Amino acid sequence: MAEVFLGLGANTGDPRANLRRALQLLAPAGDIVAVSSLWTTEPVGYLEQDWFLNAAAHLRTTHTPLQLLALLQEIEHALGRQRTIPNGPRTIDLDILLWDDAVIASPPLTVPHPRMHERLFVMEPLCELAPDTIVPLLGLTVARLRDSLAGSMRIELAARAPW
Ligand code: AMP
Repeated sequence: MAEVFLGLGANTGDPRANLRRALQLLAPAGDIVAVSSLWTTEPVGYLEQDWFLNAAAHLRTTHTPLQLLALLQEIEHALGRQRTIPNGPRTIDLDILLWDDAVIASPPLTVPHPRMHERLFVMEPLCELAPDTIVPLLGLTVARLRDSLAGSMRIELAARAPW
């Protein structure tokens, strides 16, 4: 069993429904142990789009990292995600943030997610679930990394779990 933290985001269609559906479709991978609040966040990079809904989930899984990545990509596909503009609108985005205390650097997968610590929309929900977890390679806790991003972008609580 591995303890895995996922980042989820959506900003087209019915974003909350997309996030809920994605969590349901994760069932074959194991158990969702906890889900963060839902956060409304301003877009980063490509600004001409709606704000996002973001969340994090704690998954206990029997899958291997590559099996889980394949499932995440299947779910993105099933929910109609199309890759068009980098950082652009998406019905669903699913990322593996942390995998136990593992460091994975084998294409197509990099864990810890290489940009997670730069993004408050990732670190804020993750901090609800795992504030004291030390992020491998960086050697700092999730809470410390979140605090260092405070004020870097606009982010608002949309709903407490369960949503
Ligand atoms: P994105 O467009 O942000 O969904 O990026 C998807 C691509 O990132 C996939 O083709 C994955 O192979 C790659 N990738 C690398 N590391 C990760 C990770 N930790 N979680 C999810 N996708 C990853």
